[in-house]
Parts: sequence; structure tokens; C-alpha cells
Amino acid sequence: QGLPQTEADDLGVPTVHRTVVDAANFDHAATTPALRTVHETVRRIQSTYGSVHRGAGYASRLTTGWFEQARDEVGRFVGARADDEVIFTRNTTDSLALLAHCLPADTLVFTWASAHHAALLAWPDRDTVRLPVPKSAVDAARLLRDALEASPATHRLVVLTGACNVTGEIWPIRELATVAHDLGARVVVDGAQLVPHRHVDLDDLGADWIAFSGHKAYAPYGAGALVGRRDWLDAASPYLPAGGATAAVTARHTHWQVGPARHEGGTPNAVGAIALASACATLAGHGRSIEAHEAALHARLRRGLGRIPGVQLVHALGADRPNVGVVTFTVDGYDTSLVSQVLSDEHGIAVRDGRFCAHLLCDAVIGEGRGAIRASIGLSTQTHHVDRLVDGVRTLVEDGPWLDYAHTDGVGWS
Ligand code: PMP
Repeated sequence: QGLPQTEADDLGVPTVHRTVVDAANFDHAATTPALRTVHETVRRIQSTYGSVHRGAGYASRLTTGWFEQARDEVGRFVGARADDEVIFTRNTTDSLALLAHCLPADTLVFTWASAHHAALLAWPDRDTVRLPVPKSAVDAARLLRDALEASPATHRLVVLTGACNVTGEIWPIRELATVAHDLGARVVVDGAQLVPHRHVDLDDLGADWIAFSGHKAYAPYGAGALVGRRDWLDAASPYLPAGGATAAVTARHTHWQVGPARHEGGTPNAVGAIALASACATLAGHGRSIEAHEAALHARLRRGLGRIPGVQLVHALGADRPNVGVVTFTVDGYDTSLVSQVLSDEHGIAVRDGRFCAHLLCDAVIGEGRGAIRASIGLSTQTHHVDRLVDGVRTLVEDGPWLDYAHTDGVGWS
């Protein structure tokens, strides 16, 4: 069974995928369809909006109010503290690039080889220490402590993954943040995969900043946020030096704003920000049920796939880590892209295959140059979808594909 119907109605669980032969969407880790509450919010404001922070007209003032309320809502969603800023960005990648831009000149950045490329590669102009893929949560804490003790610097930033986009494992953020803070480093959490699935609070996590994307949290594309400590943000040059970021421009000087406006140059994506806030408000009201719904389906999926001979489940920190609803696997003797094509064409199931913008992690936990198939659960997932996925993989293993894929580009046996 899925969420209770009243709860599903209230959440506006996306039904768009049910229109196509009840297609089963197991690709929530890539992008989530917008909630009905978000659709309604966008429809309501589409006919009224005006430019924010610029016009004196009614629509402009109204939209400015909504935009700033959206900032407060997004801040509340992650437990922003009094001295935190909420900066609207395009997505997680943009949020991390913004923070990279704002780091004091001599900052040493600690990243993990296991990170999504957005978090691994956001620091091209900075000295970085790259930690290896840890084998467990305890191993991660040890690796971090050793690296911080071995690499002193005036300013240090540790980049942590909230939940892994390959395995769905939730990282021991609090423990690692404590190690970082004890040794004088700051922490940013890549929250892209965490915030759609768990209640997040910056202080509970021990994070100085968190970055996340709306399109993975049931809002549309094009809006994300960086939330966290304002000191480094206000001291940095503007991320987008342009209108909106300026306080005054004279022939000799440009005076920049402080606060979020400093880094939000140009006309902001106000509709996207308001839609993001709407998703945050809806998710915040249903945190526990979302977690319970996804945990039950995740256990069923993992158990079902794990029993099929030749199916190998992929883990990094370990099978016992809390998980945001992802099961990643390979099937002995089958190319990963063939498996995902069979699931799509023969069973109406959407999964993702490949190396998930985390090549170093895939090398370490799947095999050099190899990828896998990722099934990621979300609000629209129901028990019968899980069973269909398990049956689809079992049928493939037992009987082979039903259709002829021999001439399909890029699909082969391995
Ligand atoms: N970090 C993680 C863990 C992710 O899963 C993703 C998206 N796959 C990103 C960062 C990047 O997010 P976006 O593409 O929305 O910037």
C-alpha cells in the first residue's frame, strides 16, 4: 500500500506518471515531479506577479512580499539560525559554487572522493584535500580527523554529503561535523538527497551551511538555496555583480548590498523561489509519514531484489546505514543500460543507470569504470510498484528479455 489516501490527497502526491500505463517512477533521486500544492501555488501567482524589489506597483509589492516570505519559509525548513542567510540559487551546484566564491582567500577545502561531482569539483580555485571513499561511518570519522590534524590552515571547510546519490545512505553528519568543529573547521552539507526525505535542522546536523535543489524536493527546476552563516557571505565580493546587488554606484565607487541581495544579482527567479517554499512547507508538515512510507518500501525493495540470484546490491558505508529510499544494484551478466531499458519497455518502470555523477565512488564500490542501476523511491511510489520492479528483474534473470534489443544503440551484453 502507499500513503493513506487522505494524506496522499493532502500532499498532492504527484499522479502525472500514473497516466502512462501506470508507469512506476523509480527516479526520484534525479528529479521529482511537483506536488499539487506547488502546482496550485504557481498557478495562483502566475497571473499576478511583478518584479521583486524594484517596482512600486501593486503586483511588484505583492510579489516582493511573497518572495521574502518564501525566504523565511525555506530558512525555517532547514532550521536557519538568527545569523544565517538564505540565498536563492538555481540548484545545489549553484549553491556550492556560490559558497566556493565566498570562501576567504586562504581556505583549505576537504572533499570526499565519494561525493557527487557538484560537491567534489566546486572548488577549482582552492587548495583541496581529497579524502578517500570511506568503508564505514567510523572509518569516515577517522579519515576526517587524521586529515584535519595533518593539514592546518587559517580557514578550513569540510564538504559533507547529506545522503549519497548512488547508495541513498545517510552520512553521519553530526559526528563528522563535531570532528570538524573540534578541530576548528567549518562544514557545508550537500543536502540535495537529504532534504526531500528527512527533517533537517542546521544545528542538529552541526552544519554551517546547507545547499539543496528544489527539483529534487517536489518543486520545479531552476530554484535552490544556500542557507547558513552570513559572515563569509557578507565579506565576499558579489557572486553575480549586477543590478539588485548594488547599494549605490558612483563614478568612483560601487557600494554593494550585504545580506542575500549581495549575491542575487539580476532579476531573481521569484516564481521558482515561491514554488520551492511551497514544497518546503508541504514537506515539513508531513516529515514523519514520508519517512515511514519510504522506509517500508525501501525495506521491501531491498529484500526483494536481494533475494534474486545474480543481483548485487551496492553499498558504500554499509547496508545498515539509514537510507533515503535508494536501492542500487547490478545484475550479473547484464549490461546496466540493458536492464534499465528492459524495465522501461517491458514493465513501465523508470530507473536510472550509469555512474551518477560520482565516478570515483562507482570505481570504488562497483568496480573500475563500471556503473549500476539505481531505483529511488519517492512520494508517488506504492507497494505494487516495488513488487513490479522486483518481478521485472526476476523475470529478466530467469527468462531473459522478451523483446529484441540487439539493434538498439548503445545497449549490449557484458
Ligand atoms: N549533490 C547530490 C548528492 C546530488 O544527487 C545532486 C543531483 N544529482 C547534486 C548535488 C546536484 O544537484 P543539481 O543538479 O540540482 O545542482
